[in-house]
Amino acid sequence: MIQNNIKTRVVGVDISLDKTSCAIVDIRGDIIATDSFVSADYPFIGDYVSMLSTCISKLVENNGGYETIRSVGISAPSGNFRTCCIENSPNMPWKGVIPLAAMLRDRLGIAVALGNNAHVMALGEYVFGAGHGMRDFVVVSMGNGVGSSFFSNGKAHLGADGFAGEVGHTCLVHDGRECGCGKRGCLETYTAARGIVRTARELMEESDKPSLMRKVEKLTPKLITEFCERGDELAIETYRRTGYYLGLGLANYASIINPEAIIFSGGIAQAGHWLLDPAYESFNSHVFHNIEGKVKFIVSGLEGHLRDMLGASVLAWEVQEYSLFK
Ligand SMILES: [Zn+2]
Repeated sequence: MIQNNIKTRVVGVDISLDKTSCAIVDIRGDIIATDSFVSADYPFIGDYVSMLSTCISKLVENNGGYETIRSVGISAPSGNFRTCCIENSPNMPWKGVIPLAAMLRDRLGIAVALGNNAHVMALGEYVFGAGHGMRDFVVVSMGNGVGSSFFSNGKAHLGADGFAGEVGHTCLVHDGRECGCGKRGCLETYTAARGIVRTARELMEESDKPSLMRKVEKLTPKLITEFCERGDELAIETYRRTGYYLGLGLANYASIINPEAIIFSGGIAQAGHWLLDPAYESFNSHVFHNIEGKVKFIVSGLEGHLRDMLGASVLAWEVQEYSLFK
């Protein structure tokens, strides 16, 4: 008898502070259907898991049913692929260690994998984006924080505890700016959104040059980029200084793992050449001499939520256990 029960689809879930996006993805990586809801509306994890399982079930039932779904993959901030828990996320409302994959599996009755958002982002770039065909590359996501993950020998390098690639919390300046992680001088405090605005403020204090930045109450990296386009010298200098730090931090990273490319993603990467040109210059002046000029800087061409849902679907295909009851 011909068996007709091969499961050809998975569900990819991308969790961030602003929203949770779910997609049904088929074996070719085509998105069949998506849905999303506001994560922050569910500050209690029990309510959140109820909402997430309802969202997934509705999506699945309206698009072919559970007979077609093999498993679920989740991209989560501070997610640990090895334990399938969200572990002490500084930004999400749920504190402590959250066994999210197990909680969801108990509700849905199908296998659930979970990875951290940087790891999933690298999987997304590897299968569907700029990392396609590369065996060694780094992905850096720049926004409110700096997240990173890297592929080595064609595989995501996770580390003993699943937290490899945390370049955002490597020490760049001895006894430097205080970081949200409790340490000082982390790369993130100079190159994530708040750090860039802080650098802009320092520059405005250091000089009396006129600047459009002086006229706005709530300065953002996006506004600073706009002012660069309008030729504002202090705005340009803000990204030049930020680029110097970014290039230095990434040079230390690259000197250890020797990547073919560094792929940039996230809101800050939208500053484009204003940030990346000085970063590239600083990178090459600090990196190990034999790889100087060889590491490509690439801005990701994929939309963030889309890539991360696809990356989560890659994770779902890698689940070892098969669905339990369905
Ligand atoms: Zn830190």
